[in-house]
Amino acid sequence: MIDGRFDVVGASGPTHFFEGLSAETLSHGYLLAGPAGVGKKTFALRLAQSLLCVTPKTTLLGYCGICSGCTRVVAGVHPDLYVAEGQVKIGEREGGGFHAAEEATARDLVRQLSMHSYAGGRRVFVLGDVDFTREAANALLKFFEEPPAGVLLLLTTAAPARILPTVRSRLLEITFPLLTSREVAAILEREGVEPDLAASAAGLAAGSVARARAVLDGEGTLRDAVVTWFFATLEGAYADPAWATRPTLEEGLETIKTLTRDWLALRVGGAEVPLLARDQSERIGRLPQREPAAIARALGALGDAERIARTNVSPALVADLAKMALVTTNVGA
Ligand SMILES: [Zn+2]
Repeated sequence: MIDGRFDVVGASGPTHFFEGLSAETLSHGYLLAGPAGVGKKTFALRLAQSLLCVTPKTTLLGYCGICSGCTRVVAGVHPDLYVAEGQVKIGEREGGGFHAAEEATARDLVRQLSMHSYAGGRRVFVLGDVDFTREAANALLKFFEEPPAGVLLLLTTAAPARILPTVRSRLLEITFPLLTSREVAAILEREGVEPDLAASAAGLAAGSVARARAVLDGEGTLRDAVVTWFFATLEGAYADPAWATRPTLEEGLETIKTLTRDWLALRVGGAEVPLLARDQSERIGRLPQREPAAIARALGALGDAERIARTNVSPALVADLAKMALVTTNVGA
């Protein structure tokens, strides 16, 4: 008997819940519900791995990571693990293999649910971001009511209200909360993202790994974050300085200077002046009316902040300096 490991970041509530279960008390089906990108499907797959791991363990949750069951799950080829994504429709589909990671049809599912376990143990069905057409739900209803022995259904959804009540009422709902930025950063770091970059993406991701990955992948998202910060700062609202990290600091300050220059240009030259941040001209036009001299001083202070940013001070301090430069434009106006 070993103590299996259960390598999932966040989700302490669901982890605690399943830790308290045994093979006997495990229900036949769960609906893992919660915001997008908080690790519901990862959790479902690690739970499936826990059940398909062949090394004897002390708890339901946990796996060895090296047995034939574990390696097959990780490689996506375990014959007793069925994984699908998206809406389940009724129709027949060409050549639906057991491991097909694409959409499942109700007919596939009925067929698969009726099969016997390959390894002689449990069979686990993970349906990610699931949603059923009414026909598909009806076709599957008796399986949700009472699946064949040894079958575990794990459904995930970010919109539990969209799951038909007939299906939803037959599953036990487990709620997943948003992740903390720390947890998001930890997940990104595991994926090989530099700690600084992971922290900054996590700061912009509002608790969702999916959003953090989008921040990392997306073009112009740093600029978006800086633009949001710039206007919030000048409007006296809370401005999240998460854009200010070592690798993003210089580019971020450059964006702030561009917006400030446009603000000054608009104050001095009026609406005719062509702006550099043309997509923001309307919002810049709505900024508080400050003295051109005060905005020019702010530009100077932003230049100072840029020089300081090249030294070893913390990015957060530089963001504070930039904020100070902007908010003090109202002094002496
Ligand atoms: Zn194992």
